[in-house]
Formats: sequence, C-alpha cells, structure tokens
Amino acid sequence: MKTIHDFNFQNKKALIRVDFNVPLNDHFEVTDATRIEAAKPTIIKVLEDGGAAVLMSHLGRPQGFEDQYSLKHIVEKVSEVIGVQVKFVDDCIGEKVSDAIETLENGEVLLLENLRFYSEEKNGDLAFAEDLSQWGDIYVNDAFGTAHRAHASTTIVARYFSDKKCFGDLLAKEIESIDKVLNNSQKPVLAILGGAKVSSKITVIENILDKIDHLLIGGGMTFTFIKAQGGTIGNSICEDDKLDLALEILSKAKEKGVQVHLPVDAIIADAFDNNANTQLVNVDQIPEGWQGLDVGPKSSEIFDEIVNQSKTILWNGPLGVFELETFSKGTIALGESIDKATKNGAFSLVGGGDSVAAVKQFGFADKVSYVSTGGGAMLETLEGKTLPGIEAILK
Ligand code: AMP
Repeated sequence: MKTIHDFNFQNKKALIRVDFNVPLNDHFEVTDATRIEAAKPTIIKVLEDGGAAVLMSHLGRPQGFEDQYSLKHIVEKVSEVIGVQVKFVDDCIGEKVSDAIETLENGEVLLLENLRFYSEEKNGDLAFAEDLSQWGDIYVNDAFGTAHRAHASTTIVARYFSDKKCFGDLLAKEIESIDKVLNNSQKPVLAILGGAKVSSKITVIENILDKIDHLLIGGGMTFTFIKAQGGTIGNSICEDDKLDLALEILSKAKEKGVQVHLPVDAIIADAFDNNANTQLVNVDQIPEGWQGLDVGPKSSEIFDEIVNQSKTILWNGPLGVFELETFSKGTIALGESIDKATKNGAFSLVGGGDSVAAVKQFGFADKVSYVSTGGGAMLETLEGKTLPGIEAILK
C-alpha cells in the first residue's frame, strides 16, 4: 500500500483529491471544518517536502455551474486550517487552471473549483479525468467519503499516473482502522449494530459473521428479531418481510459460533415524541399502541459487560432514537462503555451511515480509537466490497 510517505514531493506538484464537502450556513460560512482538518496532514507533508498542492473536491449536488456550490466560499476556512493563504481558480479544467498551475510555486496551495460543476465527474468520463491528470506529477487520494464511487477524480484519474499515485494520510488511516477490525483484529471481536432497519444492514451482518465473536443488536432493528422469535412488539418499527431473514441470521450466527445479544428491556412510548408517556418493559412484552424507542437499563448493564470483555469493537448505528433526549440514554450508556473499554486497551472503530452524528453529538468522538469519515464508503467496506477509489491506487 503506497502512501504519501513513500514519496518525496520536493519540486513536485501533488494533485490531491480531498473531501471538502463541508456544511455551509446561509451566509456561506463553513459550520463544521472536520473534513478540512482531516486533510491537513497530507497537505502539510507535501508542503514541508518542498512541493505544491493542487486540491480538488466536490461540494453538494450542483446541476452545472451554481454559485452556491462554489468552493470559493471555503477558501478562507481552508487557508485558516492549513495555515497558508490558499489560491483559488474558478474552474477545474481548461486554460485558467493551466495558467494557475504554471505560476504555482513550491510551498503554495491551489484549490480548484467544484468538480461536480461538470457532469463528467460523476460519469467517470475518461477525457475529463485525463484533463485533471495534467495538474499534478503525483496523484494522492485522500477522500475516503467518495472512495466507493468510480468518479473521474476519485478513480479514473489514477490510471494516468502509472506508479506515481498513493493514499493520503487520512485514507491510509481509514484503511488501516478497518483492517484492524476485519482482518488483523485482537479477539474477542464485538460488532454493535443499531439503527432503524435490518434491511440496510443485512449485507454487513452476513459479511462480518466470519470475523466476529459477539454481535450486539440494538435500535429499531431489534424488533424484527424479537417478533421473529415470537415476542410481542406493539407498534414498534418492524420489517415484517424480514422475519425469516432475522431467524436465518440468528441460526447462521449460531453455526459460526457468534454469540448474539439482543436487548432484554425497552423504553416504550405511546407516541414518537420527546414528551410522550413512557414505560420500562421487557423487550418482548410491548403492549398494543406502544413502541420501543430505546433500550432499558438492564440491557445497558449487560451490554457494558460484553463491551468491556472485548478487545476489538465496531460500532454502527444508535441503540435508540438518540435525536430525542428521552430516548438517547441507551446510546449514551453504550458510548460510555466503549469509552471505558478503549481506555483499557480495546480498539474501537465507529462508522458507517449516521453513527458518526450520534458519537459527535454526545462527545465520544475523541474517546474512541477511530471515527470513520465516510458513511457510505465504510458501510460498503463492511459489506466486503472493494472500493473503486482504493483499488485504483493499488492497481
Ligand atoms: P441508521 O441510519 O440505519 O443507522 O439509523 C439511524 C436511525 O435509527 C436514527 O435516526 C434513529 O432515530 C433510528 N432508530 C434507532 N432506534 C429506533 C427505534 N427503536 N425505533 C425507530 N427508530 C429508531
């Protein structure tokens, strides 16, 4: 696996695909610079070697040139984070860019305009990718969040760099973290899967069963499993067409020696509302008109024990409706358990889908070993897929 540390960038231009798809407010100010900060080590390495960095990214989902999606809005924030005044060119191909590249000096950073102003980016257009490839001597992919897309700048462009291509620090860290969980893990390995639906996690479960010792299930998908086993779940979220599948997962897990842990109690509510009436009941005895929206304290206690016996922990998906305070306690308790286990030496990885939002909201982001920056990319990796953006560098 080639990374930026295998290259010396002196007098070289690094064409770096970053993920600067950051949130902006109504005044076009960056409200969360996490993604820019995450790309900083790679950019700094290039500059410190005595090279120049050409940054390319997408922002939002523009239909052609749309001012609101221009990367000009983030130039000041990028400059502030990197500590260098970043230059900007309002296109990503063509003469304007080639002029800007020609005058770009070592130690300087140039940000190109939003790649998705051209539909060729998402279409993985060859000619467009070849145009982009002119802007650097070495291609660096540091955008994990788009590594599952075979777009021009994330995948196709790599073929124009033969062996002059590598992973940036961030992407390398993502690959190493997932490898630590799936392939080079310390046992026992625990996977915690929460979130709303079984259907969106089924491929993940099937792929990881061979690699884990314990599977902890929480969140809305709990109730498909409980109903499949004959429990009463009232009005809880349930995928009735997945009941057989739930039983199949349980029997496959048993065959493979994976211990499955479902919640034993639930906080139920008479409405999907923060101020609804609530009760604490056994998870398989939920009355009609009530729905399970969080795990109960007995479940949290059992989960705490399992988490603390584990040496490797993967967490994907909240244990309850964490967006509503009344139903956030189970997810917070799990975060605290993982925090404790991590302090005691376990490796913990959080990622995939929306999990990162929960972890950030409750302040656990710097308490786990690694928080993935790519929702969809992480999910597809957990599903066992080889991501095109990663394959393109390895080829
Ligand atoms: P996912 O994107 O699949 O990880 O699902 C996350 C969503 O699942 C969050 O928005 C949670 O509010 C929701 N969720 C978690 N537990 C439940 C539950 N018991 N009932 C309904 N939705 C839930």
